[in-house]
Amino acid sequence: MQYRNLGHTGQKVSALGFGCMRLPKTKDDPKQIDFDASLALFRRAVELGVNYFDTAYLYDNGDSERAIGKFLKEINRSDIFITTKNPVGHQWYQIPGDQPTGPLFRKCLEEELERMETDTIDNYLFHDTQFLTFRIIVGAEGGPLDAAKKAKEEGLIRHIGISCHDTPQNMMKIIDMAKGAIELIIMQYNLLDRKNEPVIDRCREEGIGVAIMGPVGGGKLIHPSPAYTEAVGAKSTPEVALRFVLANPGVSTAMSGMNEMAQLEENAEAASATEPLSADDLAAIDKLQKDNEALLGLYCTACGYCMPCSNGVDIPGNFAAMNFAKVHGLVDLAKQQYKRLGEKSAEHCVECGECAGKCPQHIEIQERLKEVAAELGE
Ligand code: SF4
Ligand code: SF4
Repeated sequence: MQYRNLGHTGQKVSALGFGCMRLPKTKDDPKQIDFDASLALFRRAVELGVNYFDTAYLYDNGDSERAIGKFLKEINRSDIFITTKNPVGHQWYQIPGDQPTGPLFRKCLEEELERMETDTIDNYLFHDTQFLTFRIIVGAEGGPLDAAKKAKEEGLIRHIGISCHDTPQNMMKIIDMAKGAIELIIMQYNLLDRKNEPVIDRCREEGIGVAIMGPVGGGKLIHPSPAYTEAVGAKSTPEVALRFVLANPGVSTAMSGMNEMAQLEENAEAASATEPLSADDLAAIDKLQKDNEALLGLYCTACGYCMPCSNGVDIPGNFAAMNFAKVHGLVDLAKQQYKRLGEKSAEHCVECGECAGKCPQHIEIQERLKEVAAELGE
């Protein structure tokens, strides 16, 4: 296993992080965590060198944190790092007239410490923080950020961070607004979604740890892409995906939500590769993506200006499927997504012409939909 600095926190974390958002469930109840199976996975993860575990107040109604709590009882507390999150993005914090947000933050924190039966949390994050949430709620006087700083002084938490799905520009604004208080960010980054690269660069410059969610594109990169595997000589597409994320020097850990032993072992093997993708491999991937994008010329931004289609065709959805096939070589995934579109798929375009000229990217929608139907339809 490779280990990396989590920014300036002093933590040396495993390149593979264990995301505890979808732990195994019991056979009788698909909503109930199977604690025995979860703990077996945690034990194996530690054997394979994983030392970074990520959970949250909201995961599985608190059972994810309770599973971590059970695990903490059987291992040396200092052998692993626990990240969990306060649900500031939840409606509890948004509804006017609700209790003040500082005390609400503290109540959730104390509940989490109790669930995990621990007296300190290594990394405590504001969960799903958008720029506006941060500005209006988190950073308000006497709000969650002030409460987090106090909890840090008291030793209840060691480091403060955010998890964020907002735009790169807004993430940068949160970093500015927090004035050094943010020590760790969890953000999305993978082969299919590289927009956060400038934020990762900035975090590296400022010593902010970066934990990546969705390194295999939310499961999309489990599907085979011969284009990627051949470009870098890898065994599988998930392996390329993980090694791609880890090749970014600003990334501290790539988290995977694992609920099967085989998946854990495959991920651990990829994260243990002494060399993440080399500079030549990365250049080959860049070239492949840019060449394919240019050849396809289908720069649909999913803006929706062409919608709605009076015949129910999901225009951006069809183009997204085509991009998976043609830009990323994920043909199986593209065909699966196309099939799922059902009556919204390209073959249901009746060529009424209503969407003509509406696309700011100048996409000839009718013509391109015909290509999608021919390529991905049965
Ligand atoms: S041309 Fe096709 S996609 Fe465009 S609005 Fe008409 S039916 Fe819908
Ligand atoms: S208007 Fe163009 S870019 Fe926007 S969703 Fe439609 S096809 Fe895509």
